[in-house]
Amino acid sequence: MYQRYRWPVLLTGVLGLSLGLAACNPASNLSGNQPTDQSTGPQGAEQPAPTESPEVNIYSGRHYETDETLFDRFTTQTGIQINVVEGEADELQERIMAEGERTPADLLITVDAGRLWRAEEAGLFQPVKSEVLESSIPASLRQPDGLWFGLTQRARVLVYNPDKVKPSDLSTYEALVEPQWKGRVCVRSSNNIYNQSLLGSMVETLGVEATEAWARGLAANLARDPEGGDTDQIKAVAAGQCDVAIANHYYWARLAKSDKPEDKAVADKTEIFFPNQGDRGTHVNISGAGVLANAKNPEAAVKLLEYLVSPEAQKVFAEGNNEYPVVTGVEVDPVVAALGEAKFDQVNVAAYGRNNPEVVKIVDRVGWK
Ligand code: FE
Repeated sequence: MYQRYRWPVLLTGVLGLSLGLAACNPASNLSGNQPTDQSTGPQGAEQPAPTESPEVNIYSGRHYETDETLFDRFTTQTGIQINVVEGEADELQERIMAEGERTPADLLITVDAGRLWRAEEAGLFQPVKSEVLESSIPASLRQPDGLWFGLTQRARVLVYNPDKVKPSDLSTYEALVEPQWKGRVCVRSSNNIYNQSLLGSMVETLGVEATEAWARGLAANLARDPEGGDTDQIKAVAAGQCDVAIANHYYWARLAKSDKPEDKAVADKTEIFFPNQGDRGTHVNISGAGVLANAKNPEAAVKLLEYLVSPEAQKVFAEGNNEYPVVTGVEVDPVVAALGEAKFDQVNVAAYGRNNPEVVKIVDRVGWK
């Protein structure tokens, strides 16, 4: 069955054992070299059962129950066992690098193409050739050499207060730097990869100069110094601290679907606008995955990726975070569907990472905190 480990548990328990044993056996992997007597270890209950069957070991920056459901279904259909280590993307990357050739990980799953690019730059992935992946996933949502693949899409939208803003006042990201928005815009820090990827897409389409001018103008129109995450920007709009915010659409959907009345109230007081419908489309990013260069089970890992782009899996995988499937024709969650159809930017998501070093310099220069 599917096994999941939380990062700290793994650090203190399973990893210690795994790495210790790896010294004797370079082919060691997450579940293949554990003691058979689970009662002997300090974290006995957390240790995976030994298995002879093929498996996929995943390091994942996604934390959704629906992912577990899918992994279980995959195991039932294929007999391939899945072990998941969950953690923050940067920590997982550092860990894969520290483990080197001995890493038990076959697949890195993370959110944001910018993070996948960082792992790519560090040489962590191997190229994958798969007809299924290439025909299922639009070219703009995967790395051109097959180093990583988008599995779900998220849109970076405008969230506005309908008491203060008419949809006809809104048009593009670029328009937010106009004087009428002075002191009315909320956005999180420019350190955040979501904003850096948005800027990376603008560098690709508009060039460095125009992107820098935009970033400077946006910083000058902010209602307050950036604080908190995307949900905090949406809450600030509902609370009247700003009139429009930039945020990923699923944060709004999460509030709209929340059991907490205070969250629902925030969603009720705010509306979503998809910018740039008249030109390149709304900026999208991905959750995605790549097969690791030191994977011990690369074929099984590719099989899992292929399963994740099947229509049945796409629906569930995307629903886990109220995201959009990457495969066309797959149903989206009703709350997301209610936002309406939108045109998404077709620029290749690999550009976000490629342009990231330039973006980091831009935000430094313009004083967007
Ligand atoms: Fe997020």
